[in-house]
Amino acid sequence: MIILVINSGSSSLKYQVREGDDVLAQGLIESIGEEWVPDHAAAIEHFDTELAVILQGKTIDAVGHRVVHGGERFGEPVLITPEIIRAIERLNPLAPLHNPANVLGIRAVAQKWPGIPQVAVFDTAFHRTLPERAWRYAVPDELYTKHGIRRYGFHGTSHDYVTRKAAEFLGTPRENFNAVIAHLGNGASVTAVRGGRSIDTSMGFTPLEGLVMGTRSGDIDPSILLFLAREGYSPEDLDTLLNRESGLRGLAGTNDMRSVEKAADGGDKAAQLALEIAAYRLAKYVGGYHVAVGGAHALVFTAGIGENSSSFRSLVAGQLTALGIELDPDLNELRGSSARVVSTAGSAMPVLVVPTDEEGAIAEATAATVGAAAAAGS
Ligand code: ADP
Repeated sequence: MIILVINSGSSSLKYQVREGDDVLAQGLIESIGEEWVPDHAAAIEHFDTELAVILQGKTIDAVGHRVVHGGERFGEPVLITPEIIRAIERLNPLAPLHNPANVLGIRAVAQKWPGIPQVAVFDTAFHRTLPERAWRYAVPDELYTKHGIRRYGFHGTSHDYVTRKAAEFLGTPRENFNAVIAHLGNGASVTAVRGGRSIDTSMGFTPLEGLVMGTRSGDIDPSILLFLAREGYSPEDLDTLLNRESGLRGLAGTNDMRSVEKAADGGDKAAQLALEIAAYRLAKYVGGYHVAVGGAHALVFTAGIGENSSSFRSLVAGQLTALGIELDPDLNELRGSSARVVSTAGSAMPVLVVPTDEEGAIAEATAATVGAAAAAGS
């Protein structure tokens, strides 16, 4: 089955064409809205010529879309229908930047290839299994009932995929697998997995909650917002401040971990402190989630920083000696593109690096959803 995976943003569209594990083509169309790519339909035309060459007469069987917010309704990937599009749009208030952009991608595909099955794979879906004690904020009930204010969690496709791969790697049946999964990219989140399911995660109502990220603050005292609002900051100012100017960028002047590490190695005190804060905050979550899952069987690192930064992994592990976690310095330095152990044989739990593959997971979910729908219809 040939699957086109689309991650549609308001001004960019990322695509990948897969046939099983093979990536046939991939790319990123930027500057949507400018004269040369006026809209998402034009973005598809930009790579359609390349596709025709690569597919050599074969056609795309289905399209899988990354959809950011599935709210309380979507715990699984779904075949897209007009009703599903309306349901995604009803969630726009919860994800005002992302869901409308995702729908633009869905509509552009429908216009280009009418009749091709499309599947929505939600970033929140894996966290639908959070118990209420984990997803409720301690605020008056009407904030939840009127506005949907609760914790949703994000990066679900990655956490789900990495959970499965880690369990397979360790030879543990998924339903018995307890773990703490740290997805550390530009955005970063950590998930508590019990019995193979998400029972807690660090991102909340939006992706702002939790860890120190590239440009996001993660957890702060909400009173800081009240204080700043009284000082004259507008909602837009606060949004920019906490989502775009904070995190590593706020502390060290750059959101790119490689640059922060380079600066820290060169003796830059602000960069060293930024790394310490980020590692400390993650270590606290790992300790908390180890308790939440009733004893983790593994700590798993994934995404750009988790997979590639041996020094950040070792900073975090250095704070986890109370859990009996011990990295093997040689294994930790080895590079590789498949799942591997980076802890010592004597470590109280294995520490793994498991490369994530969100596009692969979306393609797989798309094929399965289309297959199940065809079987149900036949
Ligand atoms: P996104 O959330 O955009 O998908 P990625 O998962 O690609 O992000 O992660 C991007 C982050 O990974 C950046 O901060 C980048 O500096 C960091 N990174 C990538 N390679 C390395 C490396 N070798 N050492 C340290 N950090 C790295």
